[in-house]
Amino acid sequence: MSPGRRNDSFAGDSHVGLVRSGNEDAFLVAPPLFAVADGLGGHHAGEVASSTAIDTLLEAAPRAADAKSLGRAVRRANTAVIQAAESGLGRSGMGTTLTAAMVDGTRIAVAHVGDSRAYLLHFGELQQLTQDHSMVADLVRQGQLTAEESRHHPNRSVITRALGSDPNMLVDTFEIEAADGDRLLLATDGLTSMVDDDRIEQALGSEPTPQAAVDALVDSALTAGGHDNITVVVVDIGKASAGNGQRIAAVKQPGANRSALWLLWVLAAIAIVAGAVWSANSYARTQAYLISENGMVMIYEGVPGDFAGISMSWLSEETTLSASSLDVVTANRLAAGIRVDGLEQAHALLEEYRARTTGEPPSAPAP
Ligand code: MG
Repeated sequence: MSPGRRNDSFAGDSHVGLVRSGNEDAFLVAPPLFAVADGLGGHHAGEVASSTAIDTLLEAAPRAADAKSLGRAVRRANTAVIQAAESGLGRSGMGTTLTAAMVDGTRIAVAHVGDSRAYLLHFGELQQLTQDHSMVADLVRQGQLTAEESRHHPNRSVITRALGSDPNMLVDTFEIEAADGDRLLLATDGLTSMVDDDRIEQALGSEPTPQAAVDALVDSALTAGGHDNITVVVVDIGKASAGNGQRIAAVKQPGANRSALWLLWVLAAIAIVAGAVWSANSYARTQAYLISENGMVMIYEGVPGDFAGISMSWLSEETTLSASSLDVVTANRLAAGIRVDGLEQAHALLEEYRARTTGEPPSAPAP
């Protein structure tokens, strides 16, 4: 169990979950500044993207809870992620969400890109403060999906805005006036795709401390299956900025996951030498990914790259969809490869992409 980050008035924790081999999320608790980031890109690149964003946010953050200034800091973080990819740190096509909040008494400034979320428990009632920049959120806004359907949609993790690709990326920024005793929650989709709003409201409303609320929410996501990395930050409003704007030392998600990931790879390699190629192969057969090659979208069965020198992917279909017909975020993600759970999801995602280029609504996903 990870030790978490605690104080009486705020807490944060990140858990790798039960399915992923590495943790690409990152978080920051540096009162009055709090943030979560969910990296994407695979092959360690997601970790580089999310940690670069968090580091830059901390350096560039304003001293006051001013949303416009906080938005500028998020744009600086975007530039830093793009530069990191260009300089060979990480990979091109890597990206990250970033949801940041600055708390001054009961005033909260928020800056946000992607599908991580900020919520406020306001007088006991849960309010989602941010709007997801994701394909399913667009479909919900258009009335084509319900919020509950979006939670189970095969393309729920496809985001339409992220740090790391567009130098002119838009940042949502706003300020709200909360009340003494309210609770702020920042979370990656590893929580919100596994745990519904009722449970989140109940945990935030009943747990006595932010640390207890963080632990309860992480446990709920794990109990629900822990399909993704889970990152949760909880802040009690009215207490967090008791230091009168003075920032305490930042506590960030440590890089320990990177060495853990290396250890996993070493263990995996030993397992292969011991004759466990079969199990790696069986796992790969349950996976699929879309990738652009020579400008066209290809569907592969398996996982990208190689595993201890052995390729674990098999071309399944050369599609007729051109990557350049898609938006730049998607095209960049396709260049790096977009992993999904199996060929069925790969075809559903392809349908969505085709629909975007034709303006037709996508055919309904398989039940
Ligand atoms: Mg995630």
